[in-house]
Amino acid sequence: MASVWLTGLALVLAGPVPALLARARWPRAVPRAAIVLWQAVAVAAVLAAVGSALAAPEALLTLLTHPQERTGVPLVIAVGVAALLASLIVARLLGVLVLLAVRTRVRRARHRDMVDLLARAEQNDAVGSLRSGTVLRVLDGAVPFAYCVPGRVGREGRVVVTGATLDTLCPDELSAVIAHEQAHLAARHDLVREGFTALHKAFPVVARSREARDAVALLLEMLADDAGRRRHGDDAMAGALDAFASSAAPGEGDDVVQRRDRIRAHVRGTPALAVGTYLAAVALVVVPTVTIVIPWLVDALPVVGVR
Ligand SMILES: [Zn+2]
Repeated sequence: MASVWLTGLALVLAGPVPALLARARWPRAVPRAAIVLWQAVAVAAVLAAVGSALAAPEALLTLLTHPQERTGVPLVIAVGVAALLASLIVARLLGVLVLLAVRTRVRRARHRDMVDLLARAEQNDAVGSLRSGTVLRVLDGAVPFAYCVPGRVGREGRVVVTGATLDTLCPDELSAVIAHEQAHLAARHDLVREGFTALHKAFPVVARSREARDAVALLLEMLADDAGRRRHGDDAMAGALDAFASSAAPGEGDDVVQRRDRIRAHVRGTPALAVGTYLAAVALVVVPTVTIVIPWLVDALPVVGVR
């Protein structure tokens, strides 16, 4: 029975739940809690899939055999198939994650070297000193644009802006943009994004992973916007996003417009919404474990001789 529940749960968490969550507007009021909820959906979906793979052979054995026959070869086959199915899921995810992590770090190191090489050194001081652990690089570019390249252990990350960013934004807006990028670097938002990218690559259908990846990417931007707002005010952050949106190519600035409008509408979640979202995240992982997995283990472990 546990395998049926866990398969059902995995399907719900892979389809309808992410579809609803991606369409909902309330998560943008509490981006940090909403990202945790997305992570809980993904973790619960993968756990349910692994759990259903583990439970299915035991369920078949129980269905097809008498209790006294559940020993010897049939039992060994059931346990072997369960272990194989579950380890295939875990190995696939870990394999993709490790490969992605290695490739990302190689590409990033090259990118850091490139921006260091191309930076207009004389402009790097134009913004004043940055928080320690971050280096500013100004690149030639006619379009206002900013991004960050995370460092690795013991090496500083880079905040990269174009010359047009310095020319277009007023000092407060520029400071808000830099605070936004520093928030990405300080909180290692790249690792959160990497997890969802790996999930998307490993299981294109789990947790509607394209929706999950895109929704989480936007929430991470909003979280970093909130850091910019806190330090330099709503007007500065919204003004900077306005400049970025108006110089974006047609159809490419939609996310930036959404973020700007969110700040202009002074969207801020209540503590109750944030707490409720965190509780939902915890419940997603804990409730199935307590109500499905533990009772199943209590039944299944004696079958394989564990008491
Ligand atoms: Zn950003």
